[in-house]
Amino acid sequence: MNQTKRFFILILTVFAVHGEDKRLTPDEALAKLMEGNDRFVHAKLLHPDESPLRREETVLQQNPFAVVLGCSDSRTPPTTLFDQGIGDIFSVRVAGNVVGPIEMESIIYSAIYTGASIFVVLGHENCGAVTATLQKHTRYIPLIAAMIKQNLDGYINIEGLSLEGAIKKNALAVVSTIKQNKEINNYILSGRLKVVAAYYHLGSGEVEILEEEREES
Ligand SMILES: [Zn+2]
Repeated sequence: MNQTKRFFILILTVFAVHGEDKRLTPDEALAKLMEGNDRFVHAKLLHPDESPLRREETVLQQNPFAVVLGCSDSRTPPTTLFDQGIGDIFSVRVAGNVVGPIEMESIIYSAIYTGASIFVVLGHENCGAVTATLQKHTRYIPLIAAMIKQNLDGYINIEGLSLEGAIKKNALAVVSTIKQNKEINNYILSGRLKVVAAYYHLGSGEVEILEEEREES
């Protein structure tokens, strides 16, 4: 496609975005993700937004409606398990779905420069990074394990945590960390953004949204 045609598509897209505010509310964005996950679970995939036109529309700009901070694990690709397409999900992936300064910069960038209105911190069943941390086999992931341990240290009895419990608490703690960022918090307070934790079941394909973390006393 030549530059003139590409520019024309960009103008049309920009006009469409501004002509009718296409930004989804946080609840609409979460519902869109969960509807896609339901299709994935039941093998009724639509594979949206994968056409050549979609690729051309997104050459010069992107407007993802969701951000997923997930694990690098090969079994947990966000775009696949939420049945979305090109330009739909801004993904940040690191073993153990932890958030350090670099991941936080990616998240803030996505909040400011894209239209995303839902952030999902996606832990998953049998996460190797969390397993290694609980079993103290952290020789090759010392920094990641230290972050996971820090996320679990607020809990009274780490030793008594199940693997699933630890993975969920790690994801919830990462949500708390993200919410402490000033820019993110301003977006949350204005109603533009929600940040939620979730747990992905490898076998069933189901994404389970986790309850807000309660303060331990
Ligand atoms: Zn993992």
